[in-house]
Amino acid sequence: MSADCLFCKIAAKQISAKLVHEDADLFAFEDINPQAPTHILICPKKHVASLAEATPEDQEVLGKLSLVAAKLARERNLGGGYRTVINTGSGAGQTVFHLHMHLLGGRTFAWPPG
Ligand code: 5GP
Ligand code: ZN
Repeated sequence: MSADCLFCKIAAKQISAKLVHEDADLFAFEDINPQAPTHILICPKKHVASLAEATPEDQEVLGKLSLVAAKLARERNLGGGYRTVINTGSGAGQTVFHLHMHLLGGRTFAWPPG
């Protein structure tokens, strides 16, 4: 855990969030400012600041992020389409520096993204 990290505090339940999944390696919760009818953030429990800081040691948990996103999408009947996004670095819009995958669904999405 990183002392100053918002998402580590959510993982430790020091800050409340609407948790939708938790296992030994990952936790997932509703985004506070949803950009789609479904907007969930899926995070490793281990503090990794961004994808740029991930190492081969994180390989399994990176795979699990995608599989949990697919599980949550099935649970929410997002079979018509959904989007998973990892913003890496401030230039890509990352604002919380604890690695997380966005799961967005329930509306249509444009391409390319903004
Ligand atoms: P990023 O911009 O780093 O890719 O995504 C960070 C996300 O975290 C944003 O979508 C933002 O709305 C969400 N967020 C920021 N602070 C909180 C919070 O305190 N609680 C929850 N549930 N989401 C948050
Ligand atoms: Zn953290």
